[in-house]
Amino acid sequence: MFRRKSIITILAAGMVLSSGTVYAQTISAPNAQSDTAFDNKIIKKISADNMYSTIALLSEQPREAGTEGEVRAVKYIEGQFKSLGFETKVIPFPIYDYRTNHVWVKSGGSNIEGAEPRAFSGSVTGNVTAPLLNVGKARLGEVPDEVAGKIALVERGDITFIEKVQNVLDKGAVGVLMYNNSSNGNNFGQAAEGQDIPSVAITREQGLALVEKLKSGPVTATLDVDIEKIEKTSYVVEAKLKPNKNKDTGQIVTVGAHHDSVHGGPGANDDASGVSAVLELARIFAKAPIDTEVRFLTFGSEERGLVGSSFYASQLPKDDVDRMVAHFQMDMIGGRDAGADNPAGGLIMYTIDGQKNLVTDLGAAAGVRTMGVAIPYGQLGRSDHQPFHELGIPSALFIHSPVEPWYHQPTDTIDKISKEKLQQAAEIVGASVYQIARPETPALENSRVAAGIVDYDFEDRPVD
Ligand SMILES: [Zn+2]
Repeated sequence: MFRRKSIITILAAGMVLSSGTVYAQTISAPNAQSDTAFDNKIIKKISADNMYSTIALLSEQPREAGTEGEVRAVKYIEGQFKSLGFETKVIPFPIYDYRTNHVWVKSGGSNIEGAEPRAFSGSVTGNVTAPLLNVGKARLGEVPDEVAGKIALVERGDITFIEKVQNVLDKGAVGVLMYNNSSNGNNFGQAAEGQDIPSVAITREQGLALVEKLKSGPVTATLDVDIEKIEKTSYVVEAKLKPNKNKDTGQIVTVGAHHDSVHGGPGANDDASGVSAVLELARIFAKAPIDTEVRFLTFGSEERGLVGSSFYASQLPKDDVDRMVAHFQMDMIGGRDAGADNPAGGLIMYTIDGQKNLVTDLGAAAGVRTMGVAIPYGQLGRSDHQPFHELGIPSALFIHSPVEPWYHQPTDTIDKISKEKLQQAAEIVGASVYQIARPETPALENSRVAAGIVDYDFEDRPVD
C-alpha cells in the first residue's frame, strides 16, 4: 500500500456507519452448504507454510521498483507461473527518477545569498533571464498582465502551488520564484505536468530581500534549473489460467498483489504477503475445474503511486476490459500486529467509492463460511484496485486495518508474519474467486453474483 499524505474519506449518503464491532456472528446464507462443499475444493489445499516460504524468499532483500531486487522477484514469480503451465507474460514499463544537478537563482549577475534554492518537484529544466515582477500570492484574478515575459516572484500560501504556477503561466510568465510564507526553509513546491516553466523555491528571507530590491527599481533575475530525468524499468507479471474451451463463460476474474517494496524495506507484509497468496491460489486453481479465465497479476511500482497497475489497465484491450467481472487485490494480508482488536484479525475490504460491489459481496459471504465473520467493507484507494475500479470493474482491496507499526519500515520482516492471517485471507479470496470461476455457477449478469449474499457493514476505519 502506498503512502499518501492526505486521505479524504467521503461518506456517501445512506451509508451504514457501524461502531467497528462486527463480532463473529454466523449468518446463514442461501446455498451456504453447497458453497461450503465447493469452498473445500480450494481452501483445504491452501498451505500457509507455502505462503510463508514465499514471503521469506521475497523479503530477503528490498524489491524497490527499478532495482535488481525487483528484477529478482519478477523472475521468481514468472518462474512459478511458468512451472504451473500458465500463459505468462512479463510486461515492462518505464518509470522516472529525477536528479537535480543544480538550481541557481541569480540577480545582478551573481547567485543570491543564503540557502541554495530548490526546484519544485515536477519543475522542468530551463534557463531563463528576465525582469522580476512581484505578484504577491498569485491568486486568480490578481496577477497583472505585465507578468508576460517576466519571472513571477510569488509568496507561498492560501492556494496550492500548482494553482499559483498556473495563474502566472496563463498570463505568460517565463519562470516562478516562490518564497516561503514562514521561516521554515525552502523545501516546498510542486508543479504539474505541462507547467513547463522553471519553478524554484527560496527562503522567506531571500524572497523579502528581492521584494525590497524591487521597490528601488527594476531587477533582472536568472533561473537556471538543471534536472536530469533518469529512466528505469519496472514490470507487471501477468499469468492467464484459461478454462476448458467447451466450458467458457468468456468472463475474466483478476487476482492481484504488488511485488515491489519501498526503498530499503524488505516488504514482508507489504506486499510479499499478497504475492504469496496470488502464487498459492495460482497453484491450487491450476488443478481446479473452471469455466472462467482467472488471471493472476503482480504489479511493480505500486509504492510509487500505482504506476504498474495503471500502466497495465491502460494497455488492456477493450475486449479484455469488457470481459472482466471482478478484481481482488491483496495488499498486506499477513501482518501479525495489524488489525488492532477488530474482528477477523482486522481484515476489511476497501472499495474506491465506499460502496459494496460483487467482490465485497463475495468476500463477506466467504468470510461467513470460512471464519464465521461477515467481513466489513470501507472506503480506501492507495492500492492497485484503483485502476480496475476506474475501468468500471467491481474491485476491492483485502487488507488488515489499521496497519502495523512496521508499515514501510526496514522492520517489515518475516518474523512479523502470521500464518493464521495468511491462511484466512487466502481462504476468503480463494473461495470468492471460485464462486465465480467454478463451472456450477452461471456467468454473471450485470455483476450480480449467483449465490449466498450476507449482511455486512460499512466501517469508517482509518488504515493508518
Ligand atoms: Zn506499501
